[in-house]
Amino acid sequence: MELRKTFQFEAAHLLPHLPAAHKCRRLHGHSFKVEIAVEGPCDEKLGWVMDYADIKDAFKPLWEKLDHYYLNEIPGLENPTSENVAIWIWKQLKPKLPLLTEVVVAETCTARCIYRG
Ligand SMILES: [Zn+2]
Repeated sequence: MELRKTFQFEAAHLLPHLPAAHKCRRLHGHSFKVEIAVEGPCDEKLGWVMDYADIKDAFKPLWEKLDHYYLNEIPGLENPTSENVAIWIWKQLKPKLPLLTEVVVAETCTARCIYRG
């Protein structure tokens, strides 16, 4: 069974390896949406896979590093594409959340990246 929990953070970034004329090379911001998926058996007695609050607790330290920051200044996010943000989240979350199966990072309502480790 799978659980999904969504988070949002506001942040600025630019993509330094793109040509100067590309719009994403300019400093801009997004309301990023992150979806964390975990998968595991449903505990018969508790009737759940895990506590959603534990997903929130695991993601909180990362959210605190991301929300209202300039992503390019965060170690490991010097090239903060959605892809690299998803990998950055995965690497830090997986040890704390062994049931993690997917990290989704959306920069806009119509564009998102899915990383499965
Ligand atoms: Zn962008």
